[in-house]
Amino acid sequence: MTDSAPSVLLIYTGGTIGMIENPETGVLDSFNFDHLLKFVPELKRFNYHIHTYSFDPPIDTSDMEPYHWARLVRIVERNYPNYDGFVILHGTDTMAYTASVMSFMLENLAKPVILTGSQLPMGMLRTDGKENLITAIEIAASKHPDGTAMVPEVCIYFERDLMRGNRTTKINAERFNAFKSYNYPCLGHSAIDLQFKPERIRRPVPETSLKAHYLFNNNVVVLTLFPGIQENIVSSVFQLKGLKAVVMRTFGSGNAPQKPWLISLIREATERDIVIINITQCQSGSVEMERYETGKQLLEAGVISGYDSTPECALTKLMFLLGHDIPKTEVRRLMRTNLAGEITTD
Ligand code: ASP
Repeated sequence: MTDSAPSVLLIYTGGTIGMIENPETGVLDSFNFDHLLKFVPELKRFNYHIHTYSFDPPIDTSDMEPYHWARLVRIVERNYPNYDGFVILHGTDTMAYTASVMSFMLENLAKPVILTGSQLPMGMLRTDGKENLITAIEIAASKHPDGTAMVPEVCIYFERDLMRGNRTTKINAERFNAFKSYNYPCLGHSAIDLQFKPERIRRPVPETSLKAHYLFNNNVVVLTLFPGIQENIVSSVFQLKGLKAVVMRTFGSGNAPQKPWLISLIREATERDIVIINITQCQSGSVEMERYETGKQLLEAGVISGYDSTPECALTKLMFLLGHDIPKTEVRRLMRTNLAGEITTD
């Protein structure tokens, strides 16, 4: 291996991919990540420098917390000059949240950060983990002929598809195609060749350097509207102590029931400077509050459009922005601004 060979840092956080089945008991245990090559000897065939870093102990990512995100960002920031790309092995349950928030925390990212995992543990015969891992490493090392990174974004690679991380949602608890990006096309696919779609991939802003962010405010809540929703329940949510922002999941193109109490609760909350973001319960498509009377009244009550954002992205973007101690008018403006390819505003 030459010194100019690509270098990739592989970060293992936990989740199914790093599990091995105890043949006697059938129980799943974490394997020692230092022995990765034993389970994936194919990695030797890459002519890359691959170094590993493991959370100790690894976590089931249902336990993921903002301090884990900060830890991941710190690992990337500290190792940024030394690697061409980063692969994060992560449980599938909260991978879309981690990928979304990291796209904001790593401002001016110019190198690939590829998250992947698996539905079946690496130590099982039919595992999807090997292909996901091998291809994620190849993507993290891929470059243009001029030496710049092919995919300088936070992405999820899963079951042959390369997706922008902050556009991705977990859609399946059983099948291998666990993730989907409904509102933005894939950035690439793995077929006989690795196929990238450069016209869909963000380019780093020239002459900027990586700026890592670490602050959060998680005084936020997701409120899903439904027929029959009750005034006392919504009122209690809006009165929650310390509440800073609400992601409101509305119907269709951003509509809500035309109940006068609902609109007055929303208006009263926005007057208390609580930020309310409107995203649709539909998996695909965008909020357009001007379209129907039932949406217009929300707009007039001070609700902000979340456009075609995923719930994971709207929530983590709010936590990220609220952590910056900026005026709420600025939070509202930035929620409507496309910061990392996460929304389509036109
Ligand atoms: N519960 C696991 C996790 O997210 C599931 C998985 O790895 O896919 O950590």
